[in-house]
Amino acid sequence: MSDDTNTTTVDQLTLQDPVKRYPSITPPAEALPGTGLDAEMTPKADLGEKSYRGTGRLEGRKALITGGDSGIGAATAIAYAREGADVVITYLPEEEKDAKKVAAIIEAEGRTVGTVPGDLRDKAFAKTLVDEAVKTLGGLDILVNNGGKQVATESFDDIDDEQLEATYDINILAMFRLVRAALPHLEPGATIINTTSIQAYSPSATLIDYASTKAAINNFTKGLAEQLAPKGIRVNAVAPGPIWTPLQPSGGQLPDDLPEFGKSTALGRAGQPTELAPAYVFLASPESSYVIGETLNVNGGMPTP
Ligand code: NAD
Ligand code: MG
Repeated sequence: MSDDTNTTTVDQLTLQDPVKRYPSITPPAEALPGTGLDAEMTPKADLGEKSYRGTGRLEGRKALITGGDSGIGAATAIAYAREGADVVITYLPEEEKDAKKVAAIIEAEGRTVGTVPGDLRDKAFAKTLVDEAVKTLGGLDILVNNGGKQVATESFDDIDDEQLEATYDINILAMFRLVRAALPHLEPGATIINTTSIQAYSPSATLIDYASTKAAINNFTKGLAEQLAPKGIRVNAVAPGPIWTPLQPSGGQLPDDLPEFGKSTALGRAGQPTELAPAYVFLASPESSYVIGETLNVNGGMPTP
């Protein structure tokens, strides 16, 4: 069972020591089954359920978030709702339990929420998903491309074609398809935010396939940003460092590396998903009107180019 040692009730606007905002965790060296459920994490991750405080920064906005059931996407969905947005989340069907929890939190804010299970590898899903989101929300003005796959391998030879193709399909090809499906609905003022990674610049030896998709996402973000800026649509990326989400203990790290997860950052601890949410809020909000093609690093102090 999970514990509550990571859950803070102190909101993100209260002055606090970033070193001590969360404890330095030492997760067990054992893997979660499948793609991992937030509900099964030990220690528990903080999605901001009890702490994220909105200040009206996304009033009336309509957001679609992939991988919005858990981790960074769930923390972003909760923050968006508390900032006044209506939200549709999509996720793998087997992660329905997590999605329902996030949906209940959004509903409790009095916002509209849609839950759309599906597989980002399915070429037809992008259009079905966007159509469903537009129907639920009455339009679309924020697309967060966040769903992703990360599988650590001891050796290069362990990256088989199935893993290689699934990782590229989910992490980068799905972004092309989702943007293509979303564009006809996006008006000036709309924003697209892609989740990349510190791995885009500092690839781990155990994550060669994953890290190379993240480098592609950085490049994709900049090129797309240039193309869409004249239309009034801003594209940016967020590059997380080591964040405690189901992706990591479900094969994203080799089990023996889990107890050390996040300890090599300057803050000496892993980040919690809710610590990412303000970056996604900022890039979605009109206050970032002159920020285009940027990669906002949220990584506990790991040097980036
Ligand atoms: P997570 O497991 O909570 O979220 C990933 C989500 O992607 C899953 O919840 C799942 O719903 C979705 N997903 C996976 N495969 C899918 C598929 N085939 N079809 C549809 N949806 C699918 O983990 P997270 O860490 O919050 O991941 C979110 C993003 O953050 C990912 O792009 C990941 O690469 C990125 N990221 C994470 C970290 C980290 O340390 N956790 C660091 C850098 C980047
Ligand atoms: Mg999940």
